[in-house]
Amino acid sequence: MNTTVKNTAIDSALEEAIERYTRKNPESLRQHERAARHLPGGNTRTVLFYEPFPITLTSGEGAYVTSLDGGRYVDFLGEYTAGLFGHSDPIIRQAIDHALDRGIVLGGHTETESKLAEALCQRYPSIERLRFTNSGTEANVMAISTARAVTGREKIMVFEGAYHGGVLTFAGEGPLNAPFDFVRATYNDADRALALAAEHGNDLAAIIVEPMLGAGGCIPAERPFLAALREAADRHGAILIFDEVMTSRLSPGGLQALHEIAPDMTTLGKYIGGGLSFGAFGGREDIMRRFDPHLPGAFAHAGTFNNNILTMSAGLAAMTQVFTPDAATALTERGEALRHRLNALAQKAGAAMHFTGYGSLMTAHMQRGRIRAPQDAAGSNKQLRDLFFFDLLEHGVWFSRRGMINVSLPAGTAELAQLEAAVEEFMDSRATLLG
Ligand code: PMP
Repeated sequence: MNTTVKNTAIDSALEEAIERYTRKNPESLRQHERAARHLPGGNTRTVLFYEPFPITLTSGEGAYVTSLDGGRYVDFLGEYTAGLFGHSDPIIRQAIDHALDRGIVLGGHTETESKLAEALCQRYPSIERLRFTNSGTEANVMAISTARAVTGREKIMVFEGAYHGGVLTFAGEGPLNAPFDFVRATYNDADRALALAAEHGNDLAAIIVEPMLGAGGCIPAERPFLAALREAADRHGAILIFDEVMTSRLSPGGLQALHEIAPDMTTLGKYIGGGLSFGAFGGREDIMRRFDPHLPGAFAHAGTFNNNILTMSAGLAAMTQVFTPDAATALTERGEALRHRLNALAQKAGAAMHFTGYGSLMTAHMQRGRIRAPQDAAGSNKQLRDLFFFDLLEHGVWFSRRGMINVSLPAGTAELAQLEAAVEEFMDSRATLLG
């Protein structure tokens, strides 16, 4: 099939899929129209929106979510990694219940925040001290601001395609980005990063990097690239920040432990609050000491909900009793095996499609060929990706429109098998479009 004919066939297959979707989800459409009267486009979180209208969810249980139209889906979105524990973990539930019984807006120091800090410092040894925030965005803004204040420098090296939060997005222009002085480098290009670091040397406050691009398509950093960033930061006196908001789950000590590269600062978020809103930034004691209020001239960092008792309690239970180091290792192995099986299916089908990622996080790309940076995925067929999304929804698989699949703890053998069967069916039924 030549390209034009194929693209026309993809367009009409997608049109049919969207028609079926619209017929199947009338209540969600109605709810979307109602929401749009007060929320712009019916939406308060861009990443969850998709055309023609998103499904409205009503509940979740274990590894499943249910929609307003009565659809039941196996949850491979995993709340963009914050839903690691699924929807009804009894230990986390108990911790939240227990906290509710004792008052939730105490307005003072509690033992719980100190215990959670201790658990996290043990887990991520490069984090000698840390502070809590309410989101990953806030953690990254604080880490960058800290680096600027500590070094007295302005420039922040970031990577094209990275996502560090609502005001720190580097896929495209980012018109709402915080007005820091960014220097944009290329992911997995060590030479260019070293050259840019040399060029901006004395002005460089920080280098911030995700050890695997998450929103940017689950593209793992190569170890020599991260080692070059470590070297560049050391050489020029800049602070190396690893944004492990997503990746901290990928080994007992995050990707920094796997690669044995210690950043100066780390940011955390997502699942660590047991599914409640969470963020943290931390790192070397000599940097974080600047926040010690005993000291004259200490940085002030307030935040009404930084130590909110529900998050602290859920997070402590989650990180000490549920997502233990052994659980982290086992989940990563399960995810690795799943991605290999999905790629084997694509290879067997001869499909122009593959899955990148590491451990429990992966993204489907509608193309062949190695992807080392987001630019390498620019040729991925967007219509096919949309078709993949609607086809999998029809098979009861809930995941991200951009192709991200996240394996959560309650997703067992049956759930993984359902995903694999849906992917295989897609490859069979759409074989002529995927050739
Ligand atoms: N950093 C990374 C790597 C992320 O993936 C995200 C969220 N997708 C953030 C930061 C921002 O976290 P939050 O949504 O909690 O603000």
